[in-house]
Amino acid sequence: MKYSGTIYSPPIEANTFLLPITDGCTHNSCTFCNMYQGIPFRMLSIPEVEDYLAETKQSYGKYSERMERVYLVGADPFALSSKNLLERIDLIKRYLPNVKTITMYARTDNIASKSDEDLKAVKEAGVDDLYIGVECGLNDVLENLNKDYSADETKKQCLRLNAVGIHHCDLLMLGTAGKGRGLECARASAALENEIKPDKILINTMSAFVGTQLDEDIKTGDFIPATEKENLEEEREFLSQLELPECYFWAVHPLDSVKIEGILKDDKSQMLDKLAWSIDHVNESGISRTSRVGTL
Ligand code: SF4
Repeated sequence: MKYSGTIYSPPIEANTFLLPITDGCTHNSCTFCNMYQGIPFRMLSIPEVEDYLAETKQSYGKYSERMERVYLVGADPFALSSKNLLERIDLIKRYLPNVKTITMYARTDNIASKSDEDLKAVKEAGVDDLYIGVECGLNDVLENLNKDYSADETKKQCLRLNAVGIHHCDLLMLGTAGKGRGLECARASAALENEIKPDKILINTMSAFVGTQLDEDIKTGDFIPATEKENLEEEREFLSQLELPECYFWAVHPLDSVKIEGILKDDKSQMLDKLAWSIDHVNESGISRTSRVGTL
């Protein structure tokens, strides 16, 4: 099968087998995102998915039996109904019988559209470690980003995941509140994360990409971006307020100017030290968040 869609997976899934099951994004309107512009959301048919799995099995031979984890490609494949997801998971297990975990991106509204029974059924089938674009803990900022869901809704839906035992990895973005509001955002985001208890937190830093509403808003002065020092102060405040000892904190995205990662109970103070040093030595002129190049 030839898949011509956009393939993006979280960097921490670099060693996971990627299986396309959707293309595009059901929302496709966040102000900072140009990943799927002009690409309508589409669910791949069962024959398309089966073709891909058959080719994989043929190419990998006996090594396909070692695959235990699959990442489903697409901006939000969790938008599929539980029936459609379960049909595709059955297929995966027919071709890759030792797969135990199926992971993917999920928007908050993808979770909301499923009943508790649906969530239990997909968990039972192996769905786990959902990647959630939390972005920040302030409702008005999420509205400005046009995420189309609030922090309160994210909290409600992540608590539903927790109740059925589906782990989640939350993506937070520095700089979303703009100049002067980073610390407020950090405190709200930390309070939210402390309640919804992700297994992992992934950080990236907001940048203005070509063709985005954010890029336009910066040009017209409707959005004043935070300085890099403010972004790092936001990150330090956020990290310092997290009370999630077992959580893995990952801020090694290409858009993050300071690379830190670790388990909070072991590595938090070392990560805070590195941020403190970087805040004192940040070179604003060396970093452009409005380079207007490419995509994420
Ligand atoms: S950030 Fe995610 S949800 Fe928003 S438009 Fe981009 S892919 Fe879709």
